[in-house]
Amino acid sequence: MVLDGRRIRDEILAELQPRVERLKGKGRAPALAVVLVGDDPASQIYVRSKIKASQELGIRSVEIRAPGDITTEALLDLLQPLRNDRSVDAILVQMPLPSQIDAESVVSKVVDADRDVDGFGPFSLGRLVLNRPAPRACTPAGIIQMLKRYKIPIAAKKAVVVGRSDIVGKPMALMLLHENATVTVCHSRTENLAAECRSADILVAAIGRTAMLTADHIKPGAVVIDVGMNRVRDSAEVERLFPGDTGRRALFEKNGSVLVGDVHPQPMEELSSAYTPVPGGVGPLTIAMLMSNTVELAEHHLGC
Ligand code: NDP
Repeated sequence: MVLDGRRIRDEILAELQPRVERLKGKGRAPALAVVLVGDDPASQIYVRSKIKASQELGIRSVEIRAPGDITTEALLDLLQPLRNDRSVDAILVQMPLPSQIDAESVVSKVVDADRDVDGFGPFSLGRLVLNRPAPRACTPAGIIQMLKRYKIPIAAKKAVVVGRSDIVGKPMALMLLHENATVTVCHSRTENLAAECRSADILVAAIGRTAMLTADHIKPGAVVIDVGMNRVRDSAEVERLFPGDTGRRALFEKNGSVLVGDVHPQPMEELSSAYTPVPGGVGPLTIAMLMSNTVELAEHHLGC
C-alpha cells in the first residue's frame, strides 16, 4: 500500500480551516513569521512553499529577508521589531544560516519558547522528552499523523529509526516511543545496520544518502517510511535507479534532476505492507504540521 502524503496533508489542512476562521472571529488571523537569510535556492523554495500554504489557509505570513553576508549583530537588530511584535504567533528561522552567523544565539534570542513553531528549541524538545504539550518537530509529527490516519498500529511494534539528527531522527524516536513502540535508533556508527533494519516492523529512514537502504534492510511486510529527499542530477544514476522508467526519465529531462529517497526505489509493493513514495510521501506532511503548529500556538495565545 502506498501511503499518500498529499492526501493526508489535504485532510490536515481541511481540518485546520475552521479553526483559522474561528480565530479570525476572535479578533485576528494566526500569524507566522519566516526569516530567510541569503539566497540558497533550496531554502528559497522551502520558504516560498511555507508562505504559500499559510496564505491559502488564511494564516497571515510575515517574511523577513536578510542578505547572506549579514553579521549576527545586524541580524538581531533587524529582527528586533519581530521579537517585540506579540501579534506574531509563530517564528521560523530557515536553516541553514550562513556560516558567519551564530545560529544558536539567533534562534535562542528570536524564537522564544511560546513561538517555536518548528519545535526545535530546548524547551519544546524537553517537553517532547517528557511527553507534554508543546510544538512538535514537523516532519516526525507528520509521520505519526500518517501512521495514525492509515490506522497502522504502532504500540508494541518494533520501530527502527535510521538517523539521529535533532530535527528528524531523535524526535521521531521519541514520538514512536510515546506511542509505545519498542524503538532502536541507528546512525553512522551502528554495526550491522542491515540486520537492525530487518528487525523493524516500522522502518524510518532519515539519513540523507540516496537509495541507501535496499531489500536487504527490509523485513517482508514492514512499514517503510522514507524521509530522505536527495536530488539526483546524474543521468546515469537516474537510469541505474529507475531502469526503463520513462516517466522518471522525462521528469529528469524537464527539471535536470529527480528527487530520490534514502530507500532504494525497488518494488516496494512486494517488499513492504505500506510505504511512503518520494516525492509525495513524507514531504507534504511537514508543511501541513507547520500550519497545524501555527494554529495551535495562535489558539494558545488567544486563549481558545
Ligand atoms: P542529518 O544529516 O542531520 O542526519 C543524518 C543522520 O543519518 C545522522 O544521524 C547520521 O549519523 C545518519 N547516517 C549518515 N550516514 C549513515 C550511514 N551510512 N549509516 C547509518 N546512518 C547514517 O540529516 P536530517 O536528519 O536533517 O535529514 C535526513 C534526510 O531527511 C535528508 O535527506 C533530508 O533532506 C531529509 N529531510 C526531509 C524532510 C521532509 O520534509 N521530507 C525534512 C527534513 C529532512 P551520525 O549522527 O552518526 O552522523
